[in-house]
Amino acid sequence: MRTPFIAANWKMYKTVHEAVAFVKEIRPMVKDVHDVEIVIAPPLTSVRPVVEAAHASNIGVAAQNMYWEREGAFTGEVSAPMIKETGAEYVIIGHSERRGLFGETDHTVNRKLTAALAAQLTPIVCIGETLDEREREETLTILDRQIKEGLDGLTADHIAGLVVAYEPVWAIGTGRNATPQQAGEAHAHIRGRLRQWFGGLAADQCHVIYGGSVKADNIRDLASIPDVDGALVGGASLDVRGFFEIITRSRPAAAV
Ligand code: PEP
Repeated sequence: MRTPFIAANWKMYKTVHEAVAFVKEIRPMVKDVHDVEIVIAPPLTSVRPVVEAAHASNIGVAAQNMYWEREGAFTGEVSAPMIKETGAEYVIIGHSERRGLFGETDHTVNRKLTAALAAQLTPIVCIGETLDEREREETLTILDRQIKEGLDGLTADHIAGLVVAYEPVWAIGTGRNATPQQAGEAHAHIRGRLRQWFGGLAADQCHVIYGGSVKADNIRDLASIPDVDGALVGGASLDVRGFFEIITRSRPAAAV
């Protein structure tokens, strides 16, 4: 049984002051939530302050991006060991905004994943089709390519500890959700490929979460889909109450 995994992707929102205030407010609200893994990915300037504000709590911290080299003349970049040094345990890799706006490809995603794992960070790797690709009925082919090339060279042990975020690009920040049928089909397909290419044990342990306009009023339906293990939440994670509601409503039914 996989523990639901709920991650907040704050994108380029919140100052250090706002980020720390958020964590101080939500921390006591979630202190008894032991049946959901909670992660916050603030902008890079707030990663260390959020690690400190979340110290000894059940809130994990993620960076939103990284570069694959350890160090060097790469102005503006940070490496996996540098993120690890902040105390963050997770890193988002290959978000569709990075693919679409900053030219990331399955190849660069693969290099980043490999470097993150070598630094003992847990990657949250994003995959998903654009609207054009869905309309051309290429969704499953695109997912296959992103999994095959993005996860190339990873071992079954790596996959077991990985978080894969299925994020249909047309559902991110648009208020448009995948239907339960669309999300269910994509998640079952991803799990099937992980099983086929990395083995049953790894596929059963890997978290496959959904992202795309997740809110308090749709998380229950999404989280109840087989093979959906939680959510990567953008806009709706910026508000303490809204994010807390999403966490609460994704708890396994028996525990709520
Ligand atoms: C995201 O940033 O990964 C995301 C899913 O954003 P939103 O929830 O705003 O669609």
